[in-house]
Amino acid sequence: VSSQQRQLLALHERVRDLYHHILMNTKVGEEALNYLHERGLNDELIEEFNIGFAPNERGFLVQVCQQDKIETAVMENSGLFVQREDGSFNDRFYQRVMFPLNDPRGRTVGFSGRLLVSKDFSGENQPKYLNSPETELFNKRQVLFNFDKARNEIRKQGEAILFEGFMDVLAAWQAGIKIGLASMGTSLTEQQIRAIERLTSHVILAYDGDSAGLTATERALRLLTDHSRLQLSAVTIPEKLDPDEYLRKYGAEELRNLLQHGRQTPFVFKMNYLEKGLNLENENDRLIYLNELVDELVKVQSPMEQDLYLGQLSERFDITREGLKQQLKQARRSQR
Ligand code: ATP
Ligand code: MN
Ligand code: MN
Ligand code: MN
Repeated sequence: VSSQQRQLLALHERVRDLYHHILMNTKVGEEALNYLHERGLNDELIEEFNIGFAPNERGFLVQVCQQDKIETAVMENSGLFVQREDGSFNDRFYQRVMFPLNDPRGRTVGFSGRLLVSKDFSGENQPKYLNSPETELFNKRQVLFNFDKARNEIRKQGEAILFEGFMDVLAAWQAGIKIGLASMGTSLTEQQIRAIERLTSHVILAYDGDSAGLTATERALRLLTDHSRLQLSAVTIPEKLDPDEYLRKYGAEELRNLLQHGRQTPFVFKMNYLEKGLNLENENDRLIYLNELVDELVKVQSPMEQDLYLGQLSERFDITREGLKQQLKQARRSQR
């Protein structure tokens, strides 16, 4: 670790604790704390994750750094400031609920800030979430939210759950599910997949139930199938909700139940996914559907599982098993 890195880590820790203090103990943080409570997060969780609040002031951290005699180069490389034309600094994060992003050892290396809309601040044209930019410490292709806290439990339970947003990871945590991870608003990277593979061989995808979430699930399944040997399953959250909204609507017990018993194999997920865009009363659509599914069936490793789906498709679409098997053979050949 270089001396610059050490200073950057120290600054992140200091800023994290400061934002957290503002949230928990000051008038300025009151509205943000109420917001988190209204979203169902309790103080224990807020403490555990060191959630904080960046006040609506663009010179707040700048002043702190001046008092602490932080070197200009460190400020510049921290990602916590934006520089004006004249070289002076402004806080990057203001009027945001701050979620520390940690490395696998639990050291804070960046932040994601969620805009807090209030009567004095509409936040128009501001993104809902703002992440630290890439820095010497923070590489968003590497970071998985909650990896540091979940790793032991993932090892112990033998599985990890991937969520779309870190609010979903927090909701699950509060419901007693402590094996949740999320990437930082990007699709999974090779590095993140490798990190997960070192902990477990089973991953459950539980992305948002809206159409963006379903598309992301489909993409993630394909990515993980092509780039790992992980055993996969996917849960579709009903009513287009995300896991956090589902928890709020139906309670912890129901979310646990869904994540445990609502798991679909990648093939069954694909089946349901494809069906949404097609009219299976129509022969043309039916053939598109079957062709795609046969291509998908090629990827199913277990002969027993493959046979199960062959049987289902044969019965449902009144096609002989023999016909389907021929098609499967053809598909296998053309995919090679
Ligand atoms: P909330 O419940 O607070 O509205 P969410 O977790 O449901 O948030 P989504 O809109 O579903 O958020 O987005 C999922 C993830 O995508 C977020 O956790 C965040 O990492 C990322 N994301 C969403 N909006 C933005 C944005 N404007 N800029 C960067 N990342 C974003
Ligand atoms: Mn979404
Ligand atoms: Mn969401
Ligand atoms: Mn949400």
